[in-house]
Amino acid sequence: MAGSATPMMQQYFDLKAEAGDCLLFYRMGDFFELFFDDAKEAAGVLDIALTTRGENNGEPVPMCGVPVHSAEGYLARLIKAGCRVAIAEQVETPDEAKTRAKREGTPSSKALVKRDIVRFVTAGTLTEESLLEPRRSNVLAALCELRGTIGVASCDISTGAMTLEECAAERVGAVLARIGASEIVAPDDWSDAPSDAVFRPRGDFASDAGETSLKKVHGVSTLDGFGQFSRPMLAAAGGLIAYLDHAGRGTLPLLLPPQARQSGEHMAMDEATRASLEILASQQGGRAHSLIAAIDRCVTGAGARLLADDLSAPLADKGAIEDRLALVHYLYADPLLRADLRGLLRALPDIGRALGRLVAGRGSPRDLGQIRDGLIEARRVHDLLASKPDRLALLNALLPALTGHAELTDLLSRALVPSPPTERSNGGFIASGYDHALDDLREVSGNARRAIAAMEARYREETDTPSLKIKHNGVLGYFIEVPAKHADKLMAADSGFTHRQTMANAVRFNSLTLHEEAGRIAEAGGRALAAEEAHFEDLTSHVASRREPIAQTAAALARLDVSAGQAERASEGEWCRPDILEEPVLDIEAGRHPVVETALAQSGDRFVANDCALSETDRLWLVGGPNMGGKSTFLRQNALIILMAQAGGFVPAKAARIGLVDQLFSRVGAADNLARGRSTFMVEMVETAAILSQASERSFVILDEVGRGTSTYDGLALAWAVAEAIHETNRSRCLFATHYHEMARLAETCEALSLHHVRAKEWKGDLVLLHELAKGAADRSYGLAVAKLAGVPAPVVKRARGVLDRLEKSRNETGGLAAGLGELPLFANAIAPEDENTDALRERLDAIDADRLSPREALDLLYELKRLS
Ligand code: ADP
Repeated sequence: MAGSATPMMQQYFDLKAEAGDCLLFYRMGDFFELFFDDAKEAAGVLDIALTTRGENNGEPVPMCGVPVHSAEGYLARLIKAGCRVAIAEQVETPDEAKTRAKREGTPSSKALVKRDIVRFVTAGTLTEESLLEPRRSNVLAALCELRGTIGVASCDISTGAMTLEECAAERVGAVLARIGASEIVAPDDWSDAPSDAVFRPRGDFASDAGETSLKKVHGVSTLDGFGQFSRPMLAAAGGLIAYLDHAGRGTLPLLLPPQARQSGEHMAMDEATRASLEILASQQGGRAHSLIAAIDRCVTGAGARLLADDLSAPLADKGAIEDRLALVHYLYADPLLRADLRGLLRALPDIGRALGRLVAGRGSPRDLGQIRDGLIEARRVHDLLASKPDRLALLNALLPALTGHAELTDLLSRALVPSPPTERSNGGFIASGYDHALDDLREVSGNARRAIAAMEARYREETDTPSLKIKHNGVLGYFIEVPAKHADKLMAADSGFTHRQTMANAVRFNSLTLHEEAGRIAEAGGRALAAEEAHFEDLTSHVASRREPIAQTAAALARLDVSAGQAERASEGEWCRPDILEEPVLDIEAGRHPVVETALAQSGDRFVANDCALSETDRLWLVGGPNMGGKSTFLRQNALIILMAQAGGFVPAKAARIGLVDQLFSRVGAADNLARGRSTFMVEMVETAAILSQASERSFVILDEVGRGTSTYDGLALAWAVAEAIHETNRSRCLFATHYHEMARLAETCEALSLHHVRAKEWKGDLVLLHELAKGAADRSYGLAVAKLAGVPAPVVKRARGVLDRLEKSRNETGGLAAGLGELPLFANAIAPEDENTDALRERLDAIDADRLSPREALDLLYELKRLS
């Protein structure tokens, strides 16, 4: 490979140029090989040997490789590490390459096998079972900005589910946090695109092209039947489909009709709220200790994926929530039916994903078998539920989706063997009796095999060699083998055997009859394989032509699994069906935190249930009490109960009356968030600012120690002002945990604010945390007692006690931290009168005639206004 690039290197460079920033898997025989920087990167991620191969410009070329048969596992690791991979396959055999070379007049020794990139493997475009997690959706999202509005298209190509929505620029973070995409695509000229996006040409994101692609994919002349889609939505859809087309090199995966998601259909939560409530993953990142881990009793992967969707996007419509609750309740009230249903569902294959693979052209006979078994199982589920006389509306709506596949299941049942293999190239998956020609071919090879077995017996007799065997291998095909010491008889010129190979201990022969029978087997076998392949294509296209009804069946089964799982969880934990109301109340009797309760139960501890009663006249609770007393737990359990109820499930409480919540906010003071490069306090304030600007009378807010991230004075002042603003301006239902005693005085001026605390008592000098909520302000902070409990050495605690006594004494004399707060006007009054500067500013602004300003004058004016402010 010295000097100018060899033809092979040239081919590699061409393919690499096409692959762009994807790692290029370059097929060479039984290996995928990677070169140059790709090799270095892959060897590092995969922890495999980095070697060299030949030279380029006088430098050794770094290289590593993975065997083709185990490539999937390596791909999985690369994708997990954030890489994208282009697969370059050999698209002709070496023989074909030689013939082509001859035709083109190049010496056949120089013939280079043609290679093409057949597919890009990226996190968002996977369909392989081994690369996907059964209980998690895998979403690809495309974003596009159009005149200030962001269109968002998202799709799980493993099942084809596709959603289009739009949002304001400042809500992109919240939308992406909900979607949880594993890959994001954005136009390359968009400066505000998420930094981890894959950039694609702007031309891909044209709304008219998006509309055309959607129509083409679904074979319709108008999209009206699917819903109303705005230009930004269509532009994003265009980008998404163009990327899928690129990644699949022209083969599009399964795409179901898009659904338009309207803002307001779901309870809104921003990124910080999701993270702090640990809905699908805990703050540590894993599923363990998350809300979903404490709830999920689904018996199918599709059910678990739908539950995750439900919890990520709780509903905001009373009717829709009631429908889900009614179904959960129905299955809750009938444990026998629930057990039967779950028994049937447990046996269900993942038909949504099997369908996804088949339509994407990456299906296997096993996928066809799964579709057959799943659809038959769906029929059984239908019959079980349809036998009940007292059915519900939602159940009635789901039932029709479970049937209607008789023709397809009959076909697949006749065509396939009971457990078809995952590998299709070896055949053996078409049942006998389905295709007579195939049966005949199989009989020919069967007969020939029997003839060969008879031949073996005959040869043994004729040659008087009982150890003679007829064997088969990939290189020689069929041959006769005898131990070396018996070979002489067969070597004789007139023996009828021809010598093929001499081994250390054995000699191998052929015979004319064997050759003929073997030929028969090979020919019949080849034709049988071709016939099976044709049947596979045909059956796949039958399945693909029914993609939508099959996907609907899969969706209905997933909904049943979620409902039965919710009912199961509710009956395990004595949960209740929440009442959903329109008024802004939150009335929880004996509520519990599902995750903390589960964790405590594992160590044999009991969770102390607590009530919460917010209403229009008592909508902000200040919760005080010692550290570790249970404040955060109480706040979160109420937020989670709302979320679980609006997701359509039962809740861990004795009774719950929940006024619909439009937006849920959760903030924890000064959590470490240095990863984003902002100080923790800055993060805290940015997040708090978002609540103050967005929360409404229908929102629910929990604020946990806001203000903690700064000095005491600043912290108290901010916490005070934030609580007042929420009370006066946002008027949301709010639980506010704080350790500032001084805030209790807010109750004097804020009529809808009340004081509560988590109880604790000292017993024989030790602190006992009761985790019980009580009315009124906390009497003291117990900080030193908590320190003692935590194992701070006794002399240090003692010294702290001395310091505290001094501090308290001076507080009593001076009025302390809260001195002067008594004269503070109410929040609304405090900001109403405008100061002089504002007046001057307004006067100057009023005097401006914007149409008569030159750009230069406008700029000067801007400076002047800034000086005035
Ligand atoms: P705080 O916010 O007041 O510092 P947390 O809510 O973080 O306290 O609770 C501290 C610990 O106390 C929790 O990890 C849990 O183990 C326990 N705890 C909290 N609430 C309860 C409860 N209601 N019942 C039993 N244990 C609780």
